Amino acid sequence: MADFSLNSNDFYKALETEQLIGSHCLDCGAMVTPQRHICPKCLGSNTEVVTFSGKGTLLAYTVIFVPSLMMAHAGYDAKNPYCVGVVALEEGPQISAQILNVDVSHPENIKIGSPLTMTTIKRGGEDNSKSYLAFKPA
Ligand SMILES: [Zn+2]
Repeated sequence: MADFSLNSNDFYKALETEQLIGSHCLDCGAMVTPQRHICPKCLGSNTEVVTFSGKGTLLAYTVIFVPSLMMAHAGYDAKNPYCVGVVALEEGPQISAQILNVDVSHPENIKIGSPLTMTTIKRGGEDNSKSYLAFKPA
């Protein structure tokens, strides 16, 4: 049992300690991440927090040359693009996140189905730095 609650802030609290959490529906068995009070499959509210292994495979990806404001502040631009992918966790749920350590200058070399493992990236100033989910090749 995880030390985290279903409150949405706890998703980021868990990332601070390199843990990826979600919820497990005790009625229908569905797993989702981030965690939710209401199961998106059966709409039941009998859910518990679970900690995932952080292992998954790449389902889809894109390389972004025109960054969001946050990613522009992190140093990304047309000359320094970044990869975002949809990852299928080994427990079932899917989540999108930045994919690190892949060849963004040759996106055709990034392979669907590649095994990935979670990591985190710290962003923001020293006073308000926050950990964000990312994945890297396993
Ligand atoms: Zn359910």
